[in-house]
Amino acid sequence: MVLGHERQIDYLNKVLKRGRMAHAYLFSGPEGIGKFEVAKAIAKSFYCEGAKKSLHDVCGECVQCRLIDSAAHPHVVILDPKHTLVSKKVPRSDHGRTGMAVSRPEGRDGLATESLAKKRKEIPIQDVRELKRVFSLAPQGNNWRIAIINNADKMSQEAANSFLKLLEEPGQQTLIILLSAYPEMLPQTVVSRTQVIKFFGGRAGFSQEDKELRQELALLVRQRDLPRAFKFFEKAVDNDELRKKTIFLLLATARNKLLATPQRESVMTIKEMLRIAEIMETTNVNSRLALDVLFLKLV
Ligand SMILES: [Zn+2]
Repeated sequence: MVLGHERQIDYLNKVLKRGRMAHAYLFSGPEGIGKFEVAKAIAKSFYCEGAKKSLHDVCGECVQCRLIDSAAHPHVVILDPKHTLVSKKVPRSDHGRTGMAVSRPEGRDGLATESLAKKRKEIPIQDVRELKRVFSLAPQGNNWRIAIINNADKMSQEAANSFLKLLEEPGQQTLIILLSAYPEMLPQTVVSRTQVIKFFGGRAGFSQEDKELRQELALLVRQRDLPRAFKFFEKAVDNDELRKKTIFLLLATARNKLLATPQRESVMTIKEMLRIAEIMETTNVNSRLALDVLFLKLV
């Protein structure tokens, strides 16, 4: 389950469902906000035993999901300056084929990995070569080859040049996801061959996304745009996080109105709105209708 980044995830779910993924994406945005989780969820949506091409449906617990999480999935290559790839022959793969190469992070134990991570500052050419090798294998059945490159701006010059060639001719059934907090450090030739998706920082408090949501709702209230508002609420009904934020923002708007024009009527309105919000979150009342009523109390 991936939390936050609803807009980005909604968009990705749509293109996944339609089978209209770009060959390469660049997820840009601050470190530690969940870009990597979203990228892994995309890979899982291809392989999870329970997924139906939706980032929300990946289980995170089946064999396929766990292989992806441990960077050991034969068709999902994860590059990261924190660990290196080693190509390893195993006698039997999970699919029963023989002699399949599996990519694993180096280091047999936590300590070895940790000291290695301290030494590693960049993604070396060897890792890109290994990625190219996996991508050069003929696709078997419906298997997609997926690359996730964490901190892509840390590719060495040599690695970036080599990677560019892969980006130019990625091959059939391949998907590349670059992640970077400093996309301006990436060669323009690389960036121009990706579709950029921006992620905004901060899961707690108000993110850039929330500010946009607040502006959108404020505009709907100001313009008394009922058709657009009702359409907006339709989206919020099945999306827990968006619904909660919408309720919160509608109540905040009512509060601001009350502060601007303190009247007994406004106090009553807020009381009613709070009651509706409480009913919405504690019973299985029709959420869409309730959101519509909340909005109508405001305009
Ligand atoms: Zn799974």
